[in-house]
Amino acid sequence: MKEILKFGGASIKNAESIKAVSKIIKDYTNPDVVIVFSAIATVTNLLEGLVEAYHRKDNDVLMKFNEIKSFHISLVKDLFNSEHHIFDIINNLFVEIEWALEEEPNQIFSYDYDQIVSIGELLSSNIMSEYLKEVSFQNEFLDVRDVFKSDNNYQNANIDWELTEEICKEKIKNIPVVTQGFLACSSENFTTTLGREGSDYSAAILAYVLEAERVVIWKDVDGVLTSDPRHFNDSKLLDKLSFSEAVELAYYGAKVIHPKTIQPLQLKNIPLQVRSFINLENPGTIISDFKITYNIPSFIVKENQMLVSISDKKLSFIVEDHLSYIFSLLDKNNLSVNLMQNSAVSFSLCIDSSKNSVKFLSELKDKFDVLYNSNLTLHTIRHYDKQSLDSFIKNKKIILEQKSRNTVQLIVE
Ligand code: ADP
Ligand code: ASP
Ligand code: MG
Repeated sequence: MKEILKFGGASIKNAESIKAVSKIIKDYTNPDVVIVFSAIATVTNLLEGLVEAYHRKDNDVLMKFNEIKSFHISLVKDLFNSEHHIFDIINNLFVEIEWALEEEPNQIFSYDYDQIVSIGELLSSNIMSEYLKEVSFQNEFLDVRDVFKSDNNYQNANIDWELTEEICKEKIKNIPVVTQGFLACSSENFTTTLGREGSDYSAAILAYVLEAERVVIWKDVDGVLTSDPRHFNDSKLLDKLSFSEAVELAYYGAKVIHPKTIQPLQLKNIPLQVRSFINLENPGTIISDFKITYNIPSFIVKENQMLVSISDKKLSFIVEDHLSYIFSLLDKNNLSVNLMQNSAVSFSLCIDSSKNSVKFLSELKDKFDVLYNSNLTLHTIRHYDKQSLDSFIKNKKIILEQKSRNTVQLIVE
């Protein structure tokens, strides 16, 4: 029975947690596993900062690079003796970054992003593969770029499913395999990435193409909860979720699972277990082909939102061709709409604030009158009832509310 296990950055943040995760893996009863690792804790953010500094030609590029390098070297010193070949592996990966930084920045930022930020996953997975061998868990290291083929839509690459399935089936055999999430490879042989937090999705891709029997995602929470415990203090565990409910929660922004994760699993009816790497007694949440009626409200918070109101410069109706133009700009800037509403003469949409949203606004202003509010929070309540809604909105300044039978969404200042 093949299983895919995925460990995120939070589970391998330091030597102590790497040891704890290694014990979990060693004690796991099924040896027929493919294990997927994300980059260590904040490393992706640090590498992102490095690429941005390199593109702006800031003068602290080298400092940022050294910070990431010395973090990894000191971690590896805590785990291995000084003769171990992991030091060469790590040094070589940093040489790859150095070479990239010596070149003039590519005109395509996202190309440079993928070549550099991807090193985070290569570092963590090599460290984990070698450390697992140290504790006598033999495994084969797999560079996932040899088996995951994608287009060249850098930072948000699309998997070539047929080719990926063929290569994975041929190359991934029945032994414990240690690999990375988040990465793939274009037909021109360049590294691509699958979107931030994309390692959950990588685990689902592997499960789909290898027809695995289960995916287990290990988190710093007990499973999927009714709300993010960082924002609420009464979050409760949802022990069972249907695929479709999990898709909804992830879509509205429940950060615990990447939204693209569920679809490949649902297509092959592969259950997903979300469980804690801290509280090992708790089996967590099982997401599967369940038919469940939900009656507990779930709360989802999306911060850093922007509400944009768009109207025609001559105050004429917002009609389909306007909408099609607005959506083409959203697509071009890689933005997704978290909520929308229209009236005769204006169209409003809520999007994440980012560098891309600034570009979107400036392009939009060429053709339309645009007003916007930023620093907003989008709250979604699934399976709301009168009591949960009333107590939630108390003392809040709501600037837009949208209700359907199962879901209420509120934009709050
Ligand atoms: P990973 O280590 O895999 O990258 P993440 O940090 O992306 O893990 O996801 C786990 C975090 O998701 C939790 O620490 C929690 O704060 C947050 N979270 C948001 N919504 C939920 C929810 N509904 N249930 C559980 N955790 C949630
Ligand atoms: N390391 C990547 C990120 O932080 C992918 C992941 O962790 O899922 O976005
Ligand atoms: Mg994450």
